[in-house]
Amino acid sequence: MTAIKAYAASSKDADLKSLDIKRRDVKKDDVKIDILYCGVCHSDLHQVRNDWKNSQYPVVPGHEIIGKVLEVGDNVSDFKQGDLVGVGCMVDSCQTCSSCKDDLEQFCENGATMTYNSKDKHLGGHTFGGYSESIVVDKEFILTIPENLDAKAAAPLLCAGITTYSPLAHWGVKEGDKVGVIGLGGLGHMGIKFAHAMGAHTVMITTSPDKSEDAKKLGADEVLISKNEDEMKKHAGSFDFLLNTIPVGHDMNPYVNLLKRDATMVIVGAVEPLDPLHGGSLIMGRKSIAGSLIGGIRETQQMLDFCGEHNVVCDIEMIDIQNINEAYDRLQKSDVKYRFVIDMKSLKDS
Ligand code: NAP
Ligand code: ZN
Repeated sequence: MTAIKAYAASSKDADLKSLDIKRRDVKKDDVKIDILYCGVCHSDLHQVRNDWKNSQYPVVPGHEIIGKVLEVGDNVSDFKQGDLVGVGCMVDSCQTCSSCKDDLEQFCENGATMTYNSKDKHLGGHTFGGYSESIVVDKEFILTIPENLDAKAAAPLLCAGITTYSPLAHWGVKEGDKVGVIGLGGLGHMGIKFAHAMGAHTVMITTSPDKSEDAKKLGADEVLISKNEDEMKKHAGSFDFLLNTIPVGHDMNPYVNLLKRDATMVIVGAVEPLDPLHGGSLIMGRKSIAGSLIGGIRETQQMLDFCGEHNVVCDIEMIDIQNINEAYDRLQKSDVKYRFVIDMKSLKDS
C-alpha cells in the first residue's frame, strides 16, 4: 500500500480539503496511473452533498481521469509505462454477468465498482476517485486516449462525453434528425458537439439566454429558450430526439410536448424524483421517455476514437485543486464554460 495526497469532503456540509489516502500495490491485472488532470462533474457535487442519500465519507470525488501509466501488473500487455490513458466512472465489475458480457458493465448485475463511493474489493472501505495523485485500476477499465487530442480537454470525455454519446448512438441519431439538447453545462455542451458531428440539426434548449452565442459556436443550429412559451410553442411536435441533462427534478411536460410522434426523450441528468407527468402527453403521439447511464467500456473507447477522428474535445476552465470549493459554488449556479478540469500538479506541489 502507498499513501498519497487527495482532496476529500468529510461530511455533506464540509468544504473539500487535503487528506492522505491509501492505494493498493499493483496486482497482476492492475495498471497504476499518475493522474495529470481530473474533470469536475456535477455528480461529484451531488455525491459530496449526499443528494443521492448514499454517500460514504470521506468522499474523494473525480471520475474524469487522465494520466500516464506508472506501472503495470504481470498480466497486462495492452498498456506500458508512459502511455496516456483515461479512467471514467467505473474501475471494476464482475465481467461474467449478462450485462458485462454485452459490454454494458455500467449495468453489471453484481454491481459495478464505481471509481469513488463504491465498495473497495481490495482494501475494504470504499473507493476513492481522481482528486488524488494516483490510482490503481483493473486493466479492463483503462481507456486509450487518442494522441491528437489535448489531454486536459479530453478528461471530461470520460464521463460527460460517454454519457451524451451513448444515448445519441443507442437511439440511432442520424444525419438530418432534429435533436434537442436540454441544459448547457458539462454534459449538454458535449451533447451539442456530438449531435452536430453526427450530422443532426441541433437545437440547444436552455434556460440561459446569455449562453446563446456559445451554443452556436459549439455547433447548435438553433437556440430555444425554454422559459419562452411562444418559442416553445413554435417548436412543438418537431423533435426526433431530446437529450435531457437537467441536474434536478423538474416538470417534463413542456419538453415532452416538443417531441414528434414516436420520438423519445432520454433523461441523463435527474437521478431523483421528477414532477408528475400527464399520461396523455405520452399517449397522444406514442412518445417515450427513457434513461441512460454513462456507457460501457467498449463504447467509451469507441467514443474516444470518434473524438480522435473528428477532433472533438471539451471546452474547459482549468483550476488548481485549492480552488475546488469555489468551483463547486460556480457549478451550482450553472456558471462554468463548460467543464472545470483540475490540474493535478497543484496537488502534487502542495
Ligand atoms: P452542469 O454542468 O451543472 O449542467 C447542468 C445544466 O442544466 C446547467 O448548466 C443549466 O443549463 C441546466 N439547469 C440547471 N438547473 C436547472 C433547472 N433547475 N432547470 C432547468 N435547467 C437547469 O451539470 P453536468 O455535469 O452537465 O451534469 C448534469 C446532470 O447529469 C447531473 O445531475 C449529473 O449528476 C448527471 N450525470 C448523469 C450521468 C449519467 O450517466 N446519467 C453521468 C454524468 C452526470 P442552462 O443554463 O443551459 O439551462
Ligand atoms: Zn460524471
